[in-house]
Amino acid sequence: MGCSVTTQAGDSAGAGDAGSGGRVAAIGPVTLGAEQRAELVRRSGAVAGRLGAAGVTMVALCWIDNSGIARVKSIPLGRLERAAGWGVGMSPVFDVFLVNDDITTSKYIGGPDGDLRLVPDLDRIAVLAGQPGWALAPVDRYTQEGRRYAGCQRSFARRMTGEALEHGLTARVSFEIEWALGMEDDGRFVPACAGPAYGMTRVIELSDYGREVVGALERQGIVVEQFHPEYAAGQLEVSVATSDPVGAADESVLVRQTIRAVSARFGFQVSFAPSVVAGSVGNGGHVHLSIWRDGKNVLAGGPGRHGLTSDGEAFAGGILASLPALTAVGAPSVASYLRLVPSHWAGAYQCWGQENREAALRLVTGSSGEHDVRANLEVKCFDLAANPYLVVGSLIAAGLDGLRSGATLPPETSGDPVGIAAGDLADPDARRLPQSLAEAAGHLERSAVLRGAMGEPLFEAFLAVRKAETELFSGVSPDDIVARTRWRW
Ligand code: GLU
Ligand code: MG
Repeated sequence: MGCSVTTQAGDSAGAGDAGSGGRVAAIGPVTLGAEQRAELVRRSGAVAGRLGAAGVTMVALCWIDNSGIARVKSIPLGRLERAAGWGVGMSPVFDVFLVNDDITTSKYIGGPDGDLRLVPDLDRIAVLAGQPGWALAPVDRYTQEGRRYAGCQRSFARRMTGEALEHGLTARVSFEIEWALGMEDDGRFVPACAGPAYGMTRVIELSDYGREVVGALERQGIVVEQFHPEYAAGQLEVSVATSDPVGAADESVLVRQTIRAVSARFGFQVSFAPSVVAGSVGNGGHVHLSIWRDGKNVLAGGPGRHGLTSDGEAFAGGILASLPALTAVGAPSVASYLRLVPSHWAGAYQCWGQENREAALRLVTGSSGEHDVRANLEVKCFDLAANPYLVVGSLIAAGLDGLRSGATLPPETSGDPVGIAAGDLADPDARRLPQSLAEAAGHLERSAVLRGAMGEPLFEAFLAVRKAETELFSGVSPDDIVARTRWRW
């Protein structure tokens, strides 16, 4: 079936940016002038040829809104040339859509006026193995004047990738994808399999399905590292290899849409929601992140704890310090706080620890002999209601803030912090992360780091959606929050 036409992200600079080196290659064209448009139109011919040869007739131009929902406009393949240079129209009002499709407003963005252009990233178009005849293209959003739109989350992730490069740093990122497979019956979630957590029984019950999910991902050029049954009823997980930050966010979207499409063919519904059954273990969206300088992983081979270099510790310290505000970005839904509870491997405490699955920041050091390539930071408190572009951009922003301020890490936490009396914790500052979206949004609102990094229009729109969703679910019971959000992502 499908094949990948994904190429190196480094190709994504427009002609007008040529000669500006690696930074521009990573962040893509900042403005679309006549030269850039002409070059993109020219390049779209070869891409359309490859897509056509793979049987594609439709291209889904997909972006993720501030509620973490994948929204789309689709074009017939014959319109790709036009879309590559000029984009496809879309209202900015989608930046203030809520999880239930209600619409709020914000200081700079909202209301019926204006139009934006969705410009497909030609280097990231994937032929969809689970939807024959379709391809999926992530988009950057531009103004009608050809400038990067200030509310564009993918552009924010590109910009932060560029800032890291200015510090001589590159990041490698991957998102773990957990989902619950089943159906809904009379408002209840009915799992697609009955076997135990991590049980081979589940793999046998879902043998054809599991093979097809992994096969479809691989046919799209995704490197699948693992597929396994998770803890909760009907819950499964795939892990994929790392990519550059924007590429990892693109892949997390592609992986989820592929899982959804394959599941539909098997007659199943998919929930990536933070909470699928109130009170049970939910779906995480853990992010793995390693930081590299001059080809070396700064999280290994240094004189610090567990081999951290001073850069590695400062970057991790920056993330740890900003975690309460980052939680609003990575756990952005009211439902997120039904998942983010202690003793559920969700990382509900602002602390770090080597291989500690109850610490929001887990330092993964890997096996001896490969620490240098394997060491990474796992941010566990995030879920898949998050916009992955905001996640990677915000993590880099927080890490770079740590570098600038020379942040250090407090003593590490081992064991489940919930079971340790506050006075006995090695890290006296280890505390519960926000316990509600309202609390997290308060931390975000006060975060100069994230406000400055996102820029006012994006920051205010994202914050307004958090506040409106808090209001939307005010006084609603956990069961009803879950029932109203289970199938939204
Ligand atoms: N499902 C858990 C969560 O909500 C994570 C389980 C794991 O450690 O993979 O994050
Ligand atoms: Mg897992």
